[in-house]
Amino acid sequence: MGLEEMLPPFFATKLAKLLAWGRKNSLWPMPFGTACCAIELMSTLSSRYDLARFGAEVVRFSPRQSDLLIVGGRVTLKMMPVLQRIYLQMPEPKWVMSMGACASCGGVFDTYTMIQGVDQFIPVDVYVPGCPPRPENMIAALQMLQDQIATGTIQQEIDRRTGIPMVDRKEQLAARAALPVIK
Ligand code: SF4
Repeated sequence: MGLEEMLPPFFATKLAKLLAWGRKNSLWPMPFGTACCAIELMSTLSSRYDLARFGAEVVRFSPRQSDLLIVGGRVTLKMMPVLQRIYLQMPEPKWVMSMGACASCGGVFDTYTMIQGVDQFIPVDVYVPGCPPRPENMIAALQMLQDQIATGTIQQEIDRRTGIPMVDRKEQLAARAALPVIK
């Protein structure tokens, strides 16, 4: 983030916290629902469970407008390139939720056509257990993700992925670089 580079460290830290707070409370999901888990996802978004309470109800079907990819359902070998392309088309910072057993580990479908966990191909930030997960599970996972976004641990991971470290991370990197290399 260019603006943070131009600010003194105190303001940059405060700005980073403000940005994290904004990101945490305005996630725009991109659903990638392929099977029964997607029905639970729809239910979570409905008025009964009301994901809008957590600021994540603005579902987009364009990756370029989304920052939270929700993978719900089985993903086959043929579908994985599509999922990867969608992930790559999403702008940074972005997060991925793997919803249900099938997306996380293939579920009961231990076959040659089925991806045994989407995290083998795209980085997953939070997993939702269940077959299918209850809407409450999904809300709990979303809250865990929000906590991580707010504390900045995910931000550091994004810095690592993008190679653009935040100002407050630069000191850590410098300290690490000063350490002797153990051979
Ligand atoms: S985890 Fe269960 S509910 Fe979800 S897609 Fe797989 S079989 Fe369906």
